[in-house]
Amino acid sequence: MAYKSINPFNNKVLGEYDFATQDQLDLALEAANDSFKDMKKQDIEARSKILQNVSKVLIKHEDELAETCTMEMGKLIIESRGEVELCALIADWFSKHSKELLKPDSIDTIAPGKAKVYKRALGALMMVEPWNFPYYQIMRVFAPNFMVGNSMILKHASNTPASAELFIKIMREAGVPEGAITNMFLTYDQVTKAIESPIVQGVTLTGSMRGGSAVASVAGKNVKKSTMELGGTDPFIVLSDANLDDVKSIAGRSRLYGAGQVCASPKRFIVMDNVYDDFIDGLISSFSKVKPGDPLNPKTTLAPLHSEKAKEKLQQQVNEAIEHGAKVIYGNKEIDLPGQFFMPTILTNISKDNPAYDTEFFGPVAEVYKVHSEQEAIDLANDSSYGLGGVVFSGNEDHGAEVAAKLETGMVFVNNGLTTLPELPFGGVKGSGYGRELSKLGQLAFVNEQLIVKS
Ligand code: NAP
Repeated sequence: MAYKSINPFNNKVLGEYDFATQDQLDLALEAANDSFKDMKKQDIEARSKILQNVSKVLIKHEDELAETCTMEMGKLIIESRGEVELCALIADWFSKHSKELLKPDSIDTIAPGKAKVYKRALGALMMVEPWNFPYYQIMRVFAPNFMVGNSMILKHASNTPASAELFIKIMREAGVPEGAITNMFLTYDQVTKAIESPIVQGVTLTGSMRGGSAVASVAGKNVKKSTMELGGTDPFIVLSDANLDDVKSIAGRSRLYGAGQVCASPKRFIVMDNVYDDFIDGLISSFSKVKPGDPLNPKTTLAPLHSEKAKEKLQQQVNEAIEHGAKVIYGNKEIDLPGQFFMPTILTNISKDNPAYDTEFFGPVAEVYKVHSEQEAIDLANDSSYGLGGVVFSGNEDHGAEVAAKLETGMVFVNNGLTTLPELPFGGVKGSGYGRELSKLGQLAFVNEQLIVKS
């Protein structure tokens, strides 16, 4: 598949990009190796200053970045701006905290001498990223690893090449040296070749379970450390005593953010019977208020999906769910616009034998389940191949946290929608992958924890 930028609002082709040649990949690997060696000799303060500048330069280019992203993958302009600002925040946070996070740990030992564990850079990383947050996904990996001193080869999604190019160009303007991160339009085979190279010492992918499984297998075969940030079918649990006003204001908004194309968006609404009807009314009301249109127009509130293929896949998943007994209580109608719009849709009556029961709907589709006890809610939430995030709403937040502790996911928010910030670890368990990005955990994902015992 070639790299192609297509505006999903009007289907206009914005640009086409050739695959990298083998020579270009070899040169990029050499540059990554040189950069890793240069960073080894450099004081961390120098990189901290550059990252601080990246934060500022991103904000300076916010308009251009936000417009490019919106035109290329369809995100609402306000959300694209938010993404650029989040990237600036992440750069700022790691520029200020990495030094402390990377300090060596002393160990009390009966071995003769003093023992310390240092956190050293590993080498070059192969990073494979998706289109849904084309800048944030780069920054989540780049900021902590640049501070450690790992260099990176980026393979971005084939439908967001312009965003990838622009972001790297702006990072260069901010002072990020050549070789510290190189964007390449790679084929899957070239990603494999890069991972096989002795220069690459770590692999990270954000994307689907299918993509993650393929890339993790290559990493495993070559004994390279990897982290995988994959899909999710996050539960949104509403307990009997929940404040329905809060729930109603958050549920629809969270599901429709990014036109529903967010890994940790709530996808399965699991609602106690006594509040179910009220909840459904609230969700319908929220879904019916959206205004589809040009995502560059700040008045638009429903963005198109990122591609024609995505729309076809989502429609197929909804049709299949209906064929297996799901009931459509809102939506599933055509939106009369040329772009890749999908009407927000609510499905109920999803039985365990329905393929929808354990499927990630990557778009504005909410599955709603009525439950009769808290245990039923927890069991249903955990009956999934995925385990990324989740939310629990309860009138008693301590009790909400007790329920949260029983969920098999990497992240749970009580009485609020899930969010991402530089200081909070992001990642999941089960089919949602392994490893964490951001926070101290993301900072230490690709380090050589080197023990030195000094007699
Ligand atoms: P995808 O198909 O797996 O693609 C993601 C990236 O992986 C793209 O750059 C893609 O390249 C590449 N890729 C896929 N298969 C590959 C292979 N065999 N070898 C090398 N590279 C490969 O994912 P998607 O469907 O576009 O993205 C949506 C998925 O990502 C959803 O499941 C979503 O939940 C998940 N996601 C997870 C997180 C998280 O943090 N956990 C965040 C965002 C999204 P091409 O574009 O060239 O195919």
